[in-house]
Amino acid sequence: MTETTTRFHTTVTERQGFRSCRRRWYYDTVRRLARKNQVPWNLIYGEAVHTGLEHYYLDWNKPRLRKKFLLEAFVAAWEKERDEVLMVDYGSFYDMGIGDEWIRYRDLGLVMLEYYDLFESKQRFFEDIIAVNVEDRAFVDILTPDGTKMLDRPLLSGRIDLVGERKDGKIWIMDHKTAAQTPSYAALDVDDQITGYAYIWWRITGELPRGVFYNCLVKDPPKAPRVNQDGNLSKDKSQRTTFDLYRAEIKAQGLKVADYTEILAALQKSGWSRYFVRDGSERNMEEIESFQERLYYEVDDMLAALEDENYRYPNPSQWNCQGCSMLAICRTHEEQGDVDWVIDDLYEELPSRHEIPQEILSPEWKGV
Ligand code: SF4
Repeated sequence: MTETTTRFHTTVTERQGFRSCRRRWYYDTVRRLARKNQVPWNLIYGEAVHTGLEHYYLDWNKPRLRKKFLLEAFVAAWEKERDEVLMVDYGSFYDMGIGDEWIRYRDLGLVMLEYYDLFESKQRFFEDIIAVNVEDRAFVDILTPDGTKMLDRPLLSGRIDLVGERKDGKIWIMDHKTAAQTPSYAALDVDDQITGYAYIWWRITGELPRGVFYNCLVKDPPKAPRVNQDGNLSKDKSQRTTFDLYRAEIKAQGLKVADYTEILAALQKSGWSRYFVRDGSERNMEEIESFQERLYYEVDDMLAALEDENYRYPNPSQWNCQGCSMLAICRTHEEQGDVDWVIDDLYEELPSRHEIPQEILSPEWKGV
């Protein structure tokens, strides 16, 4: 959530944060607090990967060059983060471990994206690319349940990474993600983020996409197969390798393919599924209408939570709180301690995550 003097703004992903814990949403999203000297690795690495993919799909019609643009754009984003943020914000700490860790992320990203190009070329998803990184961030007015604009015109925004047309002529949205482990997408049929992207696209184009896919790149790319002490290749099917890498290693070691038929068959069957996961779900007009109605009531709750601390109640549980960077504040709240002191001592305020473009803030903006 971003608060401006004139417009309230929330995003497709911030809404999930609000529903999962209002207290965390308030400190993390509204006040933009972050633990001092803690680098948000997942966020900054994810952003660099997104930048690489943006250029990859912008250059979709240059198949011989797009991998080059993918890697160059990723490295450029990585360098920008290093020079303009990490070295500036962390000063001498950069040379005391932060820099080495960031280099590790760069090397990981280069391998992951190299393989991504191979994966995409073998499992081409779109026939045609329609839009990449739509308007950087698309903004729409949040509407009342009967479809009219609210008085103070709060906004919903989302970054739509990629829109394309599949072989059957249907339009799909693709949302890029990075994850530490192979994700399970078991509830995509009701996933609210998916509906949110379909909703925004429908609002800005008048066209309902067939659905939305998550395009997840797992931050643990495949490696060459292990070589046993006797010089043979390991036949452990759980090792993180691929059919192509295994075949290449058989050749490199001068071994016989016939000795490895079982593991090669298993690797061929699993393909890239442990490293890149694409899964999605369709949406229809009724689901879009349900989303629009629920969005109104949710924003109403957000506005109440901004006004009144009692509506910023927490959602504490073993499952929900693991890894929460606001835990120190939250515990102090529960102990009825000095929250301001904890914030001053342990936290810093980050700049606003999303700026609303001036033309949208202007009274002349007619809205979407
Ligand atoms: S520790 Fe749990 S309850 Fe407290 S703010 Fe974080 S997620 Fe919410």
